[in-house]
Amino acid sequence: MEPFSGMESIVRHNEPLAMYTWFQIGGNAEFFAEPTTVEELTRLQERCREQNLPIRVLGRGSNILVRDEGVHGLVVHLASPVFQNLTVQGNTVEAGCGVGLNQVIMAAVHHGLAGLEELVAIPGSIGGAVRGNVCSHGGDLSQWITSVTVASRDGSIEERSRDEMAFSHRRCEIDSQELILSAKFELEEDDPVALSRRLQKEWILRRSMQPLAHQCAGRIFRDPREDTAATLIALAGLKGTRIGGAMISERHAGFIVTEAEATFSDVARLIELVQNQVRTRMGVELELEIEIW
Ligand SMILES: Cc1cc2nc3c(=O)[nH]c(=O)nc-3n(C[C@H](O)[C@H](O)[C@H](O)COP(=O)(O)OP(=O)(O)OC[C@H]3O[C@@H](n4cnc5c(N)ncnc54)[C@H](O)[C@@H]3O)c2cc1C
Repeated sequence: MEPFSGMESIVRHNEPLAMYTWFQIGGNAEFFAEPTTVEELTRLQERCREQNLPIRVLGRGSNILVRDEGVHGLVVHLASPVFQNLTVQGNTVEAGCGVGLNQVIMAAVHHGLAGLEELVAIPGSIGGAVRGNVCSHGGDLSQWITSVTVASRDGSIEERSRDEMAFSHRRCEIDSQELILSAKFELEEDDPVALSRRLQKEWILRRSMQPLAHQCAGRIFRDPREDTAATLIALAGLKGTRIGGAMISERHAGFIVTEAEATFSDVARLIELVQNQVRTRMGVELELEIEIW
């Protein structure tokens, strides 16, 4: 615990990460911290800078696959109440990084505010959703963002405008050592009843298309320019293909689902098989959307 001496109440050594991720696979974080204030968080950043240790932020683990050998450095989990504030004032919704995206969407709809409902049922936190600029057929999250508060590399807290965040498809420009603390959204007034109906429709549609009931699942590939990754994988005849405890979902070929005995290596070998087959049969290079830690 030497790099974090004096911070033992919030830092743990060798914390298993599997239970924090959707895949429920993988090894330990060398150091794992759950800060309870922004000051503790910036102190952790400072220690990492001094010790030259990498820092990673864990949201709800729905876009992360952890290697069996685990993660070097510090993993920060921003789940304490200070990162969970959610306020609605007029058309503006402000949410802390630890709040669930779905909780924010529900609050907006409850206040008759439209825009985010097409993203309903996408798992994860606001931090992860902003970092990855989550999208669905209706558009992406960034179109509703006005600003994002960030703990920068040197520990200073900055409010950055949407333009400064430079959002693009499933990305934003933020240094890997910077942390998103909260985001503000400007939404549009709408009839709450019509809005609730739209929300329900979206929810049902998504549940029917994706393996959402399957806890151990991950959306693996970015959609290439040619078509959706799911369509290309299905056309290559790979739905249901299995390696060990990992399988290409029968319901939606863009997902890998896993069983309890699955290992990182099963998922990694299945990813490689899909990339090879789609390259050979369709001439398309599939890039990863999920992050491997
Ligand atoms: C069943 C299923 C369906 C999905 N459907 C969709 C979909 O329709 N559309 C879509 O776009 N995605 C989808 N995803 C992917 C995933 O839900 C999103 O990428 C989600 O936003 C990740 O959020 P998270 O909190 O789980 O982040 P994590 O998986 O924990 O982290 C993802 C990345 O965000 C970073 N991060 C997290 N919090 C912060 C923070 N506070 N500051 C800085 N960086 C941070 C992490 O370091 C990591 O780089 C789906 C995933 C699953 C499993």
